[in-house]
Amino acid sequence: MRQKLWEASPFSAEVKRAPSRLPFWSCARLIRERMNRGSGLRIGKILGIPIYLHSTWVFIFAAITWIIASQYKRDHPNWTDIQHYAVGVLTSLLFFASVLFHELSHSVVAQHYKIRVVSITLFLFGGLARIEREPSKAIQEFNIAIAGPLASGLLSAGFFGLAVLFPYSQSVGALAKWLCWTNLSLAVFNLLPGFPLDGGRIFRAMVWGTTGNFEKATRVAGASGKLIAYAMILGGVWQVVHGNTQMLWTILIGWFILNAAQESVAQVAIRQALAGLSAADVMSKEVPTVPGHITLEEYSAEVLRTGRRCHLVVNADRLIGMMNVHTLNSVPRNEWAHNSVQAAMIPREKILWTSPEEPLLRLLERILTADVNQMPVVSGAGDGAPQIVGIVTRDSILRVMQTRSELGPLAASR
Ligand SMILES: [Zn+2]
Repeated sequence: MRQKLWEASPFSAEVKRAPSRLPFWSCARLIRERMNRGSGLRIGKILGIPIYLHSTWVFIFAAITWIIASQYKRDHPNWTDIQHYAVGVLTSLLFFASVLFHELSHSVVAQHYKIRVVSITLFLFGGLARIEREPSKAIQEFNIAIAGPLASGLLSAGFFGLAVLFPYSQSVGALAKWLCWTNLSLAVFNLLPGFPLDGGRIFRAMVWGTTGNFEKATRVAGASGKLIAYAMILGGVWQVVHGNTQMLWTILIGWFILNAAQESVAQVAIRQALAGLSAADVMSKEVPTVPGHITLEEYSAEVLRTGRRCHLVVNADRLIGMMNVHTLNSVPRNEWAHNSVQAAMIPREKILWTSPEEPLLRLLERILTADVNQMPVVSGAGDGAPQIVGIVTRDSILRVMQTRSELGPLAASR
């Protein structure tokens, strides 16, 4: 059933695009995407990319400053306390600038391939540059991934040069030495060939380029990521048991890598389950409507009677918005009798749409990012007037995923 609702007012068929849930470049000391986009404090914009400081950054900044200052105290007992901390803070700041530089180099290469970089966030385990989509070719992934460790290596060489240039300044020497070593370890650690480290992405790009199979490459790189993570956790536990408590950090990083590696493999499974499907395959073609003037009380009765949780709101055959149980529940119950659906609904301009052709994977990402339960499907083809042809719900996508993973071999032969 096709519904022509927009004849009265020409509707621009522009589909509102929510930012999709993005793949991410996880770096430095890693890595798991649990932060909302742009979470934290925005400190500025470089190359058009907003830079954020996550709240965990404060702790790590304080901890690193303290560790560096303590080291300077041991190595340079002749310095004043102020000097220990002043050089400590400066070293810390330059360390974070180094992490930012590492992320920016991934970003510059990504931008070179016309992949938008959404944001860079500095947080507990280092930096995180988010790109809008996965690279479409293995060589692009390779180049984006290798840019980070190369940048850290370059910085390491730069600080080495600084130490050589100023042999008589103890503070510059100490600072340069620390940053030279730290950037070098950053480069080396990130080159470990396990997903989601840069080295794991390089590894994946090589397997992908050789086999032409992105899913297989991700599984291989994910498996080696898990191996590295287990090695770090076991090695860390061994060291901690033998009194080296500094290795607690290694266990923590190993644990993060393990999670991220598992997640990346799970994402491939989802990608496979949804491959080749588009919104039209899972949409429900019946789109129930309600008039805008009815009260929320009446709307709840309609929901209870039909079991449908989402309705388009119409006014004299014109679409004016969308109403669902979630929106209903956001109004206190005692106000239901006095409020109309029109007053509470999601107005037309704020509805997120999809088209029948949108790939299901991308649609699912948008639905999750926007945190909505359903999206109307709009077709602009045919006579040119956009029409609502159906509705896709989160549940319908999850059902397809479940069925397809149960029928794995069958679905694959499709
Ligand atoms: Zn990196």
